[in-house]
Amino acid sequence: MKLNRLFFFILLTLIFEISSSQSRKIINIPNIPGYQTLKCDFHMHTIFSDGTVWPTVRVNEAWEEGLDAIAISDHIEYRPHSKNVTGNHNTSFEIAEPLSKEKNIILIRAAEITRDMPPGHLNALFIRNANLLDREDVNDAIKEAHDQGAFILWNHPGWKVQQPDSTVWWDEHTYLLKNRMLHGIEVYNSNEFYPEALDWALEKKLTMFANTDAHGPIKTGEGHRPMTIVFSKSRTAGGIREALFSKRTISYFGNTLVGESTLLDQIFFASLEYQNTPLKLENEVTKTISIKNNSDIDYELELVQPGVGFDAPTEIKLPSHRIVSFELTGNSDEVNLMKNLNIYYKVKNLVVGVDENLIVTFSIQNI
Ligand SMILES: [Zn+2]
Ligand SMILES: [Zn+2]
Repeated sequence: MKLNRLFFFILLTLIFEISSSQSRKIINIPNIPGYQTLKCDFHMHTIFSDGTVWPTVRVNEAWEEGLDAIAISDHIEYRPHSKNVTGNHNTSFEIAEPLSKEKNIILIRAAEITRDMPPGHLNALFIRNANLLDREDVNDAIKEAHDQGAFILWNHPGWKVQQPDSTVWWDEHTYLLKNRMLHGIEVYNSNEFYPEALDWALEKKLTMFANTDAHGPIKTGEGHRPMTIVFSKSRTAGGIREALFSKRTISYFGNTLVGESTLLDQIFFASLEYQNTPLKLENEVTKTISIKNNSDIDYELELVQPGVGFDAPTEIKLPSHRIVSFELTGNSDEVNLMKNLNIYYKVKNLVVGVDENLIVTFSIQNI
């Protein structure tokens, strides 16, 4: 009987251990020269504002989904559970912080200043004390965040509840921008893309964000949540802060990446491995090129300009974690003399402006 009991105890322990195991997704988006590529979500809520989850849930979700950093940004002005949930504006951070350290998830102290339009909703990141942002006048709240060294971004600028007819940039935003109290903007929030925000980000030099603004539990299954890719000098909160103020971000949602062309170009080529020995293509000869895509991104290419003296495919798909082969065929004697074969493709899922895609140049050694 004693042995049976021991066996039963061991069995129970094993079941408990199995049921409490967690697994972490690996997101394959390469580093670029000089920077680490960090996967971040800077906008989410907990039960301490109008969310439905306990703060530690946000840390566990981030760990499971392969993120490096999150900001819990509970509303300052809107706390519908406050009758049942006590605590102040710093409580969600304080509850989540020990687990974030244990899980090695960078937790950024943040809050959402939540006002009517204008100026609408603003996330203040890297604040020191969220309680001091609880001010009657919105300008006092923003100034306080600014004085605490915050990075401030405009959330969901095209949210229909606040901008029902058209997505407008208000004088208040010009004022904030001029006084260096507005540094970034969400071009994507939850499941909405705002083309106007992309235009403004480029024109007014604002850092681009894609965030979940999650209120309930995050369930992405095999996919990934919308996220902000940050190119940071180090995997630290300080590194992320410097990168955000330096505008080194890309917005990643679905299979689309939105950002400045120099960053997207670096991500694209860092994802791929291809021919680095001379191809020796000649007139009326066909050679095969293989490209390996090591990233999670499926690249979709469309030929914009054929190379001199040879034909290349008009469309190429480079699925994630696959090697794709395609043919180049010489069509004139000119190709025999080309040192490099340059092919220009538009990448349909890399967006650099409204209705504008990244153009990449494959340069293949020939002789
Ligand atoms: Zn909001
Ligand atoms: Zn929010």
